[in-house]
Amino acid sequence: MKKEDRIKVWEKYDHHCAYCGREIKLEDMQIDHFFPKNRGNYSRWSDKEGKYIVSHGEDSMENYMPSCRACNFRKRDMSIGQFREAIKEQAKGLLKGAAKFQVSMSIAYGLLNPAFDKPIVFYFEKCMNYKDRLTKYIQGRLSESSNVDDYEPNKLALTNLLWFLSKVTSNEVIVAKLKIMSDADRKRKKYLSRYDGNESLYDDEYSKAVSTIAKECLTYLQNKKE
Ligand SMILES: [Zn+2]
Repeated sequence: MKKEDRIKVWEKYDHHCAYCGREIKLEDMQIDHFFPKNRGNYSRWSDKEGKYIVSHGEDSMENYMPSCRACNFRKRDMSIGQFREAIKEQAKGLLKGAAKFQVSMSIAYGLLNPAFDKPIVFYFEKCMNYKDRLTKYIQGRLSESSNVDDYEPNKLALTNLLWFLSKVTSNEVIVAKLKIMSDADRKRKKYLSRYDGNESLYDDEYSKAVSTIAKECLTYLQNKKE
């Protein structure tokens, strides 16, 4: 990679590791692929093609993430969701690993303070507005889905939300939309009872998925502590 491109990646998060947030020197920076190159098909919206396309992680400024040695080593070809889990598992592993005696004693004496339930918020997530954070989050969710059926309710709810995010910028509008969506399941039932409706099971499933996905996204956004 050309030196000026390395500098561009380094400046993406103001000389910090995109994951743990530690400051890194240019010469120590490793370049991670947010969507792994060798695996992880993910679907994303293509403005050019006017539809969702499925592709691998690519060599592009958008997909390059500045990373410290430790995070890059740990993430390897994991998706972002898998990486988040791996970091939690690694911490819990200390209680069973070679240092378990020292770790449990240090906890007993209050020298170590375990917080295994603390949500893992990556540095790049703290730097983003809701639009960018949720877009990346949903792309990650879709990349982990092995379902090839675009009409599977959860997948449809996620791709519809992704489309909505491409049209708005305001944090407030996004939260308002998610709150309306989280109510979809309840509202649908209300309408159905009013019209004594006999709607298809699929619509029910879809409304349920819309509510579930919206609640999941709201929780995800609220995990951000600034
Ligand atoms: Zn790091």
